[in-house]
Amino acid sequence: MVLATRSLRFARTRRTRRTEALRSLVRETRLDPSQFIYPIFVKHGTGVREEISSMPGQYQLSVDMLRGEVADLRDAGVRAVLLFGLPASKDAEGTEGYASDGIVQQAVRELKRLDPDLVTIADVCLCEYTDHGHCGVLTATGEVDNDPSLDLLSRMSVSLAEAGVDVIAPSDMMDGRVGAIRAALDEAGYTSTPIMAYSAKYASAFYGPFREAADSAPQFGDRRGYQMDPANVREARREVAADIEESADIVMVKPALPYLDVVRAVRDQTDLPLAAYNVSGEYAMLKAAALNGWIDERRAVLEALTGIARAGADIIITYHAKDAARWLRDSGDTRL
Ligand SMILES: [Zn+2]
Repeated sequence: MVLATRSLRFARTRRTRRTEALRSLVRETRLDPSQFIYPIFVKHGTGVREEISSMPGQYQLSVDMLRGEVADLRDAGVRAVLLFGLPASKDAEGTEGYASDGIVQQAVRELKRLDPDLVTIADVCLCEYTDHGHCGVLTATGEVDNDPSLDLLSRMSVSLAEAGVDVIAPSDMMDGRVGAIRAALDEAGYTSTPIMAYSAKYASAFYGPFREAADSAPQFGDRRGYQMDPANVREARREVAADIEESADIVMVKPALPYLDVVRAVRDQTDLPLAAYNVSGEYAMLKAAALNGWIDERRAVLEALTGIARAGADIIITYHAKDAARWLRDSGDTRL
C-alpha cells in the first residue's frame, strides 16, 4: 500500500496551500486600499451626520462634517471619493446640480481645501436634483428626453470642474453623454479632467438603499427606459464601446457582484481602467447578515471585494472601503 502510493504521480495543488506564507506567495489577486473609491453623501446644513437606516455605518453629511471623513480616509489609506448630493430644493430641470454653490460643488471645494491630494470624483446625473426623480428632463408626455438632458449634464460637469473636481462620473445612461460632456469640458478649458463613465449600468433592485441615501427614487415609473436590462451582456459591450469612442477615460460596470461576468467581458474588451460599483444593496445584504451574526463580516467583505478584482476590475467603488482598507492594513496582507 505504501509502495503503491509512492509510485503515484499526480498534481498536488495542496502543496502550495500549506501555510499562509505559501498561500500568499502564489496568490493571484491582491486587494489594495489604493484601488478603492468611497462614496459620500453630502447635504446642506451644519453639524449633520445622519445614519442611513438601510445602510448601517453610512451617513449623510453636511460639508462641515467632511473634516472627520477626510481624516478617517487618510488613516485608512483610501485616496478617492465619489460624491453624491442632496440639494436644498428640487425642480423639473435639476437646477442645483449645476449651480456654482450647489451642494456637491461646495463639498468639492472643502475637500480640496482639507486634502488637496484626495481624488474627488463627482457623480453627474439629474435624478438627485429633479422633482420627478428621473435622470434627465422630461418630454410633455413624461418620457426622459435624451438630447436636451445632455446640455444639462454638460453644464453640471463644467460647474463641477470649476469647483475643482478631479474626475467627472456620468451615471445617467443617456446616449451620447460622454461625448457631449467631453466637448463641454474641453470647450471650457478642462481638457485634463478625466471622465469615468458608468458605461454598463443596469436597472437593478440592488440600488434600493441608495435611493434612501440620495433621496432619488423616481416619482413615477422606473428607469428601465434608459438603464440596462439585467439579462444583457453583449449590450454592455456596445455601451462600453460607445463610451470609449466618445473618449471615456475609465469605464464602469454597475452593480458588481451579480454582474461579475460582465466585468470579465469588459475586462477582455478594453485596456482602459475598469471600475466596478459594489452598490448599496450589495453592502446592505452583507451588513444585515453580519449584524445578525450570520456571517463573518470581515471575511465575507474581503472575499466579495476579491471576487470583483479577480473578475477584472482595477477599481472598486464600495461602501466597505474604509473597513476593508483597515482590515488589509491591520492584517498586513490580503488574506481572507
Ligand atoms: Zn440618475
